[in-house]
Amino acid sequence: MTCGPTYFLAGNIAKQKWCHFEAIIRCRENEDLARRNVEKIRENGWGRNYYDVPVVEPLVYVIPNLRSLLPINKPNVRTPPGESFEKVLDLETGETVLYARLDPAKFEKHFGEFFEPVKITYSEWRSLCSRICLSQQETGDTEHFEFAEKHPTIIAFWEWENRYIVGFPDGLTDEFVYEFRSVNSYYLLHHLKPVALAQAGLYAYFLDRPKIRVQIRVKQANKIETFEQKSNPDSAVALLKSMLALLDGSAEPIPPGMAWKCKSCSFRTLCPHLCPA
Ligand code: SF4
Repeated sequence: MTCGPTYFLAGNIAKQKWCHFEAIIRCRENEDLARRNVEKIRENGWGRNYYDVPVVEPLVYVIPNLRSLLPINKPNVRTPPGESFEKVLDLETGETVLYARLDPAKFEKHFGEFFEPVKITYSEWRSLCSRICLSQQETGDTEHFEFAEKHPTIIAFWEWENRYIVGFPDGLTDEFVYEFRSVNSYYLLHHLKPVALAQAGLYAYFLDRPKIRVQIRVKQANKIETFEQKSNPDSAVALLKSMLALLDGSAEPIPPGMAWKCKSCSFRTLCPHLCPA
């Protein structure tokens, strides 16, 4: 039996619905980030009542780096290639920040020659994107900004079985928790939907909301599919318990069973399924 993490990001727990191995790796890798989130939330007294929490405009750090991103809490670890946009909670300010990996040539005319990350607001980022027509891959999370419903939200953590779960729903009302995703095809929607529903379900459980509302935009079809259902506390608890069991070794992780998932996975080189010890 191995000792599992104490601090979690809710989204990492929901990843079980994608791949058990990935959920385990993410929970272990992000424990420190989750812990620091908890400290920051405590320090600022956030998370008790979402009406108290202003909806903050995310910031974007434009990084003059073609190859990779530097996640905020891991100065020596680079995010895997292929992730062109990373949404991170800035522990200094508590704001959502986005790291954008961009072609410096495109930005030279806007920022001049730049070597350090440039911090701009999301609105500035949007206007910049429309001015220089960035591709969808480059704009990344801007899909979210453009197509997701706008609801207030909260940054909070919850204690569960001596663990701390950090969450940042995409939206929160009295009635439901809202999550938004964007995928290329209906095929991917089919695989991502359970992850989004599970994540919303965790938030609904902790925040005691009767419903979850998930929207997934299918880019190829230019359509947004909406899934609304009653929240199910039993499923949320089952998901939390199965995560702990996977982490303490009392449950065997099951590989995703689809080669394409492993082929495009950022954790290929770390994954015990592909590289057994
Ligand atoms: S390589 Fe495959 S099994 Fe391993 S974490 Fe990625 S998707 Fe899961």
